Amino acid sequence: MTDLTNLGVKAIRDGVAGGDFTAREVAESFNAAVASAAELNAFIVTTPDHALAAADAVDAKRAKGEDLGAMGGVPIGMKDLFASHGVQTTAASHILEGFKPEYESTVSQNLWNAGAGMLGKLNLDQFAMGSSNETSYFGNVASPWRKEGSNAAMSPGGSSGGSSSAVAARIAPAATGTDTGGSIRQPAAFTGICGIKPTYGRCSRWGVVAFASSLDQAGPMARSVEDCAIMLGAMAGFDPKDATSLKMDVPDWEAALNADLKGKKVGIPKEYRMDGTDEAILASWEQGKAWLKDAGAEIVDVSLPHTKYALPAYYIIAPAEASSNLARYDGVRYGLRDLPEGAGLQDMYAATRAEGFGDEVKRRILIGTYVLSAGFYDAYYNQAQKVRALVARDFEQAWGECDLILAPTTPTASFPLGSLNEDPLTMYLNDVFAVPASLAGLPAMSVPAGLNPDGLPLGLQLVGKPFDEQTVLDAGLAIQQRSGFEQAPEKWW
Ligand code: GLN
Repeated sequence: MTDLTNLGVKAIRDGVAGGDFTAREVAESFNAAVASAAELNAFIVTTPDHALAAADAVDAKRAKGEDLGAMGGVPIGMKDLFASHGVQTTAASHILEGFKPEYESTVSQNLWNAGAGMLGKLNLDQFAMGSSNETSYFGNVASPWRKEGSNAAMSPGGSSGGSSSAVAARIAPAATGTDTGGSIRQPAAFTGICGIKPTYGRCSRWGVVAFASSLDQAGPMARSVEDCAIMLGAMAGFDPKDATSLKMDVPDWEAALNADLKGKKVGIPKEYRMDGTDEAILASWEQGKAWLKDAGAEIVDVSLPHTKYALPAYYIIAPAEASSNLARYDGVRYGLRDLPEGAGLQDMYAATRAEGFGDEVKRRILIGTYVLSAGFYDAYYNQAQKVRALVARDFEQAWGECDLILAPTTPTASFPLGSLNEDPLTMYLNDVFAVPASLAGLPAMSVPAGLNPDGLPLGLQLVGKPFDEQTVLDAGLAIQQRSGFEQAPEKWW
């Protein structure tokens, strides 16, 4: 039998449904692959029994001739930002260590209802704050990719770095991610996989540890566009428990996939040609244009004039919301409690938060509290909200001239772990191309474009109109068919 761990979502689902192998065989293969890949540090906890139980339920349904679900028999990794009933959920923080929710997030429940099983909870940047997966309390995640001729451990991107590492290493066929300002797309680009952040509101945020609520969106990470379409279909849907959830039907994205782009106009935003962007990235952008043209699309120049203000606005809005969301971790309700001898309530808050949050999280809380404070609210937070509106308006105007936008996902390929730690501003720049779509709430996807001269993956980003995930996925498929990207990292773990 072929090695089941080389299969993706669609191949597993169809193979289980067709009786080529059982869901249990699939779960056992991936459980073994996860157990043998501890060096990647992609998982915080593994849940082999969850994967086996879900698989057995699918096999039993098949025996009875019942419908197996859109993800029937597919074991996945769950970013440890989604609350899992009875399973430790930490957001990669010390403050939530040992927290076992009494509830399941809507998105993960949707996946279980569709027949998926859970291999474990994936490592991430602490509270999803970071671009390299180095801010986790549970240690760095390594990318399975290395530079040609080097043994240096590389970043899998962040914050969904456990997700990207596991999927690229083929120890999970797919994983959930969340994207606040690039955390699905940037790690997907760094590891040669696909990842889509849907329109804000498509996936429920209920049961997802909140970072910046007006930006947070869940999405799938997998090795093909088809697999992302299938998994997004299973994750999305209206949820009365999330006030910002979209009350819209979930289209059958998989069934409608169509790589023929005739009649579509693809916008190339001139402001994304930034100083410091890698030559190889610019070359892959050119290649992407040629591929989409070959698929029948017309390429047009567009302008998104407020692009350069998006990142600074994000780094005011996201920390502001984070400082408010993270106020709930006070030693009273969840996880860690540090109650020094003779301490009062305030001392307990201070001691718990000092011990329980990492440096990057503290930096965000300080910035967020500052920009929301009475004397500075108008100067920073209100200004940033105005900029956000202008960034969104740029896109609205661009939609008058094109149906989707093609841009690089990141300004560089992956970098060695440890190389940017001392320099938060350079780290923040990783998301310069990703953040505008986040601020505007638009669907955006990263698909692999090839390898750079060092042998590291590069991603191309597609940004669509609100609710138009279909065109984004279609263009992603057109790129996938032309790049033929199927390279796997050489196994060293
Ligand atoms: N890297 C960005 C940040 O640190 C985005 C994170 C995310 O999308 N969760 O804020």
